[in-house]
Amino acid sequence: MKVIKKIEENDLAHVFIAENSEGKQVEFVESIQPPLTIKDKWVLILSTLFGCPVNCKFCDAGGKYNGKLSYDELMFQIDYLIKQKFPDRNVDTNKFKIQFARMGEPAFNHAVLEVLEAIPEIYTYKNFIPSLSTIAPVGTDDFFTQLLSIKKRLYKMNFQLQFSLHSTDNFQRDDLVPIKKWSFEKISNYGNDFFDEGGRKITLNFALGKDSILKTETLLKYFDPAIFLIKITPVNPTFKAQKNNITSLIDSKNKNYPIVDELKNAGYDVILSIGEYEENKIGSNCGQYLNTFREENKKLENSYSYVVKNV
Ligand code: SF4
Repeated sequence: MKVIKKIEENDLAHVFIAENSEGKQVEFVESIQPPLTIKDKWVLILSTLFGCPVNCKFCDAGGKYNGKLSYDELMFQIDYLIKQKFPDRNVDTNKFKIQFARMGEPAFNHAVLEVLEAIPEIYTYKNFIPSLSTIAPVGTDDFFTQLLSIKKRLYKMNFQLQFSLHSTDNFQRDDLVPIKKWSFEKISNYGNDFFDEGGRKITLNFALGKDSILKTETLLKYFDPAIFLIKITPVNPTFKAQKNNITSLIDSKNKNYPIVDELKNAGYDVILSIGEYEENKIGSNCGQYLNTFREENKKLENSYSYVVKNV
């Protein structure tokens, strides 16, 4: 595996493109959140699959599935970034987060579990938060059973697990995320087991488009506000979202949405995660994928515009 390209220099996020010996490419990201510095918080976002078989309607990384990354290929992404900033592998930041969330549904790759086992043996850090985002595909029970055991043994309070639901309406959820997925009841039961008193709540993520259905009463039926929190994000500007006519309900200019108040009144913690507008242009946001940008060879409004350079 070697890095072949990276996004031009900026203060927010760097996207790297690496290629393996068979010519398969992945993207991975490092970012900080100004005004915080790398000493305060540092976030790595990794790919787990070459392409993704799920093909969500708003995600440029979906489609063209070409296999899983090996343990070594997963570790390459982490080690490449850490060795650039912390050559002695002592990650000296107050909050060090690794998100398994760039390209690929992580539950399809058991090597992710090996990486989670290995990280505490290879690196030192003050405060490490592993973070895994999943759409909860049917047929991945073995992955989640092992994940639960790793969390309880190695990470206990500090693991951030996110279920990306995107709709409380099953028909709409199936349309947006077009493979078979766990039911809300099954996600709820797993989340209840995963949660530790005093630890991080389980995140339910909704990237809200203008036509998205998010019903508080459906959430309350399945998800205990003492265990689950709600994260609302924009639908990021991708080619897929544009092709499928999905426009974001959430924008960076408006911080007030009635649904946020309704969820809070129902007892949920709500994170309204608007992000940096500039990150859209860098192409580092969820669902964005620079290789698609390069292939499409055209511009998208308020989206990918930073130059991708050879390394
Ligand atoms: S959003 Fe995630 S699961 Fe859906 S296609 Fe993109 S990478 Fe795959």
